[in-house]
Amino acid sequence: MRLDNKVAIVTGAARGIGRAIAEKLAAAGAKVYILDINMDLAEATAAELNAQGMNVVAKQCDISNVESTQALANEIIAEEEKIDVLVNNAGITQKLGVLELTEKDWDTVMNINLRGPFFLTQVIFENMMKHRSGSIVNIASLSAERGGKFAGINYACSKGGIVVMTKCLALVGGDYGIRVNAIAPGLIKTEMAKQLQFSTDAIPLGRLGEAEEVGDAALFLASDRSSYVSGTILDLNGGEFMR
Ligand code: NAP
Repeated sequence: MRLDNKVAIVTGAARGIGRAIAEKLAAAGAKVYILDINMDLAEATAAELNAQGMNVVAKQCDISNVESTQALANEIIAEEEKIDVLVNNAGITQKLGVLELTEKDWDTVMNINLRGPFFLTQVIFENMMKHRSGSIVNIASLSAERGGKFAGINYACSKGGIVVMTKCLALVGGDYGIRVNAIAPGLIKTEMAKQLQFSTDAIPLGRLGEAEEVGDAALFLASDRSSYVSGTILDLNGGEFMR
């Protein structure tokens, strides 16, 4: 699953799942742009990966700011000409009950988890249409499939939107050789998971997932090894939810 001479963008990749995805793509030969709101950590992550011989560039990005994110995407396009892979990974969760949620909470999560990723994708999608190729991988969530009691209704709804966005873009992208897929992880051992209540009792594999395991799935979807896979929501949950 090589990505030599390919350019990839991964959002929210300073740490957690995004970092693991960036690492897998870069280890497979891609030049990877890490876009993250935490520039110090993004730079530290890029430096660590570059010290291992990878080609990783850190860029500051608040995905909820559409204007600056689209400007950054255009800057990267001007530099690289062709973007091969986009991974929409940046996301936040809020542990708020139905009655606690405010309009501001709703908007904050929607802006980071759904609105921002769409408007970044819009710019990259145009570039992929022009070059008639590309792979987009969206990070959804198990909560989009069966509801999210602990992660918050705003979070689950944003991820439900990501699932539908994936299908819409896969329908349009087909004519241009653009594949669009999503990964729906169950609980993965990251800082985000620490905020949530969980038990492994209902997980057939009896454990939480590792960020590297999401990275492997993203590499598969990014690479030509998944050349006939589009519009798929790949469950990655240890068997916790079966269709
Ligand atoms: P994480 O450990 O919290 O990492 C998320 C990264 O995104 C952090 O570096 C964070 O920066 C950055 N970020 C936050 N807000 C941003 C913004 N507005 N613009 C750009 N970057 C921003 O989360 P994770 O567990 O790796 O989750 C990654 C993705 O997987 C998310 O979309 C999440 O919903 C999804 N997911 C996670 C799990 C899980 O169990 N962990 C399960 C299902 C789905 P800061 O450190 O500054 O906040």
